[in-house]
Amino acid sequence: MVMETEAASKLKTVLLAEDEPGLAMTLSDLLTGEGYDVKPVADGQKALVLASTAAFDVILLDVMLPGMNGFEVCRDLRRRGVGTPILMLTARGEVEDRVKGLNLGADDYLPKPFAIPELLARVQALLRRGSPAKGQRDAKTYQFDGIRVDFRSTTVTKNGKAVDVSAREFQLLCYLVEHRGATVSRRQLLKDVWGYDFAVLTRTVDVHFGLLRQKLEVNPKTPQYFITVRGLGYKFMGEPDR
Ligand code: CA
Repeated sequence: MVMETEAASKLKTVLLAEDEPGLAMTLSDLLTGEGYDVKPVADGQKALVLASTAAFDVILLDVMLPGMNGFEVCRDLRRRGVGTPILMLTARGEVEDRVKGLNLGADDYLPKPFAIPELLARVQALLRRGSPAKGQRDAKTYQFDGIRVDFRSTTVTKNGKAVDVSAREFQLLCYLVEHRGATVSRRQLLKDVWGYDFAVLTRTVDVHFGLLRQKLEVNPKTPQYFITVRGLGYKFMGEPDR
């Protein structure tokens, strides 16, 4: 019982990579006040070294950093097998940057300037992130039109060739397989796959669908599997191979 109490009271650790001193201090104070153990760094290279050598619960990663930019840090961390949830802090209006971050394995992005409650909520959601194999899954794999989703090894292959999917894309794909044929709303996806139990203004779901289409559809512009249901959300239509 004592062990449990200790485990429960252990502070969640946040690596904060932000080079703007004012913002770094504000965020650091705020997160500390919320009960997080915050390690601030102002340099991309240092962020990479720290995140590779110490275990953090979540990483807040600014894009424009001296030394190495946030994209490079994110990409290198994922290449090294570091799976810590990453929230990218992007400059406003840079849509391509957001997609790029997610493509490199970030879990989510938050455009600057952001509201503090939104940042806190996103961090909490990343900490609550469920495993891809949430719930009982009897099948070890799901296969449709030559695309094979392996739930055990958390890998995806297309016609026998490995497809590079991020942890979040894989979680989304698993969720869609489980809800095949049903229309799921963006809000439901944000709640069940991202862990957001509140309304957020984000294009994250759409961006992730775009990525899955690019990687798995024969023609991403006329999708057969990842279907948009206008005004309602999305539907997955990959019928299992016989
Ligand atoms: Ca910066």
